[in-house]
Amino acid sequence: MRFQIGDGELHLVSDGVAWSDAGGVFGVVPRALWEHVAEPDAHNRVPMSMDCLLIRVDGRVIIVDTGLGDKLTPKGMDIWGIERPEGGLVDSLRREGIAPEDIDVVVNTHLHADHCGGNTTRRGDAIVPTFPNAEYWVQRLEYADAAFPNERTCATYLPENFVPLYESGHIRLIDGETELAPGVRCVVTPGHTRGHQSVVIERGGQAALYTGDMTTFAVHFERLAWMTAYDVEPLVNLETKRTWQRWALAHKGLILLPHDTRMPAGYLTAGQNGKPRMTGCK
Ligand SMILES: [Zn+2]
Repeated sequence: MRFQIGDGELHLVSDGVAWSDAGGVFGVVPRALWEHVAEPDAHNRVPMSMDCLLIRVDGRVIIVDTGLGDKLTPKGMDIWGIERPEGGLVDSLRREGIAPEDIDVVVNTHLHADHCGGNTTRRGDAIVPTFPNAEYWVQRLEYADAAFPNERTCATYLPENFVPLYESGHIRLIDGETELAPGVRCVVTPGHTRGHQSVVIERGGQAALYTGDMTTFAVHFERLAWMTAYDVEPLVNLETKRTWQRWALAHKGLILLPHDTRMPAGYLTAGQNGKPRMTGCK
């Protein structure tokens, strides 16, 4: 899907679809409530797209998140239930006429494997940057949490996705809100992880927000109480969503949702009874 925000071009580019356990995606929300927004398979898994955001602005080419990438073993592919009928992120970029060498900046919303696995690729025995000319932007706190994980977080913080980049000098650690280009900025949106960030694009009187995992599906953005079991600070995430709901309503901002197969992009409106409601873009 493509969008124009002022003179900036945005494009959701796919790294495929993964099937995730619904218990993770919906946490404590009962199945009777969520099954109208996501249809589970026989293993109680629901599809989650891995849509990365390509931003072209002022002659710069920026990609936000890199999906799961191509380093997974066949067993890993099976565990994630990966479907890539049209290839992965690099293939999606090539269809847009963009080679890996063309990317100027990679932003990682956070360092969970489904958002940064495509940062690096295997070349022989070596792990090398997928985007060799890019600077990779990560919040310093996120990098610290990923580099020193605990028993709960270690399964998704996989060193091969970021340590080789740190060692080769490709990573730029940022502290808090940071401008990528005029009107394009990283904003800290804590809760899913402590150092999680999203990307805001405000150009020419228009606005968009790439949420990352601040909200997994559109329904998680509508309903503050709905959140995944993966959020390390759920009540912090709830307040983050409250803040960005207000922003979305005030700016009529386009909301870009990396994991929602049914509504990858939409707008929040106040709705009836004051209950916010997401409406998808056609
Ligand atoms: Zn995710």
